[in-house]
Amino acid sequence: MSYSYLASSIAESPTLKLNEEAQKLVERGQPVIHLGGGEPKNKAPINAILSSAAKLTTGDIKYSPTDGILGLKKAIIRYTEEYYGRLVQPENVIVSSGAKQSIFNVLYAILNPRDEVIVLSPYWVSYPEMIKMVNAVPVAVTPEDGGLHPRMEDITDAVSSNTKAIIVNSPNNPSGMVFSEKFIQEIVQFCESKNIYLVMDDIYHKLVFDNKKAVPCYNFVDRDIEDSKVIVVNGISKLYGMTGFHIGWAIAPRKMVEIMTNIQAQTTSCASVVLQAAAEGALMGPQSGVENLRLTIENNRNVMMQELRSIEGVKVTPPGGTFYCFPDFSAYMTDSVKLSQLLLKRALVVTVPGREFGMEGRLRISYTGSIKDITEGVARIRWALDPGSPNEIYIGDRKMVRDWL
Ligand code: PMP
Repeated sequence: MSYSYLASSIAESPTLKLNEEAQKLVERGQPVIHLGGGEPKNKAPINAILSSAAKLTTGDIKYSPTDGILGLKKAIIRYTEEYYGRLVQPENVIVSSGAKQSIFNVLYAILNPRDEVIVLSPYWVSYPEMIKMVNAVPVAVTPEDGGLHPRMEDITDAVSSNTKAIIVNSPNNPSGMVFSEKFIQEIVQFCESKNIYLVMDDIYHKLVFDNKKAVPCYNFVDRDIEDSKVIVVNGISKLYGMTGFHIGWAIAPRKMVEIMTNIQAQTTSCASVVLQAAAEGALMGPQSGVENLRLTIENNRNVMMQELRSIEGVKVTPPGGTFYCFPDFSAYMTDSVKLSQLLLKRALVVTVPGREFGMEGRLRISYTGSIKDITEGVARIRWALDPGSPNEIYIGDRKMVRDWL
């Protein structure tokens, strides 16, 4: 059998592999703690359920318009006005099956073969692979100061005549970092002045802690949306913990929305009307659930930071948002895939290797789970790595002895 060169070049996801291994362990009754997840544990908002149930009970479940049902588009317009201070038109909005599809549509719409797209390390795993899927070239830019916050000087050094777009994700997966207002202003103004597309992946933009807010990029967009290079991607997956409903959207100039609509029409046709009804319900209903989720996650973040600090030599920058942190374990091991495998095998804890996000020596650790999962998970990591910790631990009801250090 032969497969396309392009398809074969798409990297296997070590995350999925780790998840499979973890699942096998769970099936064998092993007490695995999952600190690798990318979805909150809350239930979907009742308004979302009622709205999708109402649609379902009509029995009239057909294709939706390719770019989304008008009710949801209106809800997205309201959301954009409220949280971004920008009034857009229905023609500026396209609804997709998740933010992931929106990002793919954007890339497909703007990139020619060999065009370059700058991604900022640590970056979300899917960006480079999606860029490669449209025959373009991902260019990863790592902060030269060894930190997690991108720096304009590193980005401008990496820009070439082939640079077509820059993707910015703040609050950031995997670091949890919320990029500074100064940076957002500079990157918006830079892209607008150089005619480079700026894709703002804002999927976590309301999950921000410490009484702060993510800065809306439109604050710095002086141009009319029709002439702007800024494209905003968002969705309900993280905001409402509605990953299984999987609705996302992009806000862009109407010409670009038309092109993305053609792409979507020829690939998936449209997102399901039932799920769009759920998204509309979530956006139009009471928003107290979002605040509750944010508060729970902020508390989890605090516990996670406190626990991680107990591991000698681990350096962690407290995340300002999302539900991830990205500690540096290089004092123990720089090969993050081996480290993650060791933690799964010895301590039955799932983490995601930093290599997937373009940075070695780090692990992405999620704090979406329970406080018990966080404290016990980190205690197991400490036991597995830190020779200063007691060398016996209970995992489930089994007493384990560390005999590999
Ligand atoms: N962007 C980032 C940075 C993400 O972390 C995720 C989900 N892991 C997505 C986009 C995709 O979101 P959706 O579930 O809406 O496809």
